Amino acid sequence: MIFLLIGAPGAGKGTQADLLADHAGFVKISTGDALRRQVKLGTPVGKQAEAIMARGELVPDKILLEIIKEELSTKTDKNVILDGYPRNVSQAETLKTLEDYYPVKGCIHLDVRRDVLIERLSGRRVCGNCQSTFHVTASPSKVPGVCDKCGKDLVQRADDEPKSISVRLDVYDQNTQPVLDFYKGRNLYCRINGYGQPIDIFNEIKAVIDDCAQGL
Ligand code: AMP
Repeated sequence: MIFLLIGAPGAGKGTQADLLADHAGFVKISTGDALRRQVKLGTPVGKQAEAIMARGELVPDKILLEIIKEELSTKTDKNVILDGYPRNVSQAETLKTLEDYYPVKGCIHLDVRRDVLIERLSGRRVCGNCQSTFHVTASPSKVPGVCDKCGKDLVQRADDEPKSISVRLDVYDQNTQPVLDFYKGRNLYCRINGYGQPIDIFNEIKAVIDDCAQGL
């Protein structure tokens, strides 16, 4: 079964998906991570996606369909947490066509205000090697610009530049917000406040998932 984690860029979806994978027996699928892998490998998909991602726009649905099918194909019997898909109603409808095999059991909306999102995204730094994430003020690395875990350089994602941040947040408002209504209509929607300590947010999400699972 699948649980969706939906929220604006910077809402903390990646962090929560990692916690659910590490502590709640979920397999994480992140379409953003999958696309970044394609970019790093220099595949045709990666080459097509790179500039689109750097601008903060959405990669075409056709590419995402291939990615999501490939990612899900080995996980039929697993509990999946989906980070970053669906990002528009058309993708939500596509996912519905796959539900004989991959039923969606809940849509968790991590809700965070725009000014907080901008602050989080503009201060985010990522290790170019192991992908660990830091924040210049909220969770800085011990040595500025150097990853605590592997000692390699920290970088700013191209799509965390101010211009791309604003595009990404607008894209979210226009394309992804309607997805929340799609799942409200199916009675699968649950809103979680995305502020505070990651572990507290995780516990809230876990309680929602346990509730949904009880109703199965
Ligand atoms: P994320 O790491 O989830 O913020 O995703 C980074 C970027 O990957 C997004 O800004 C989009 O350009 C692209 N992306 C990830 N997931 C999707 C999706 N479901 N549909 C379209 N583009 C996506």
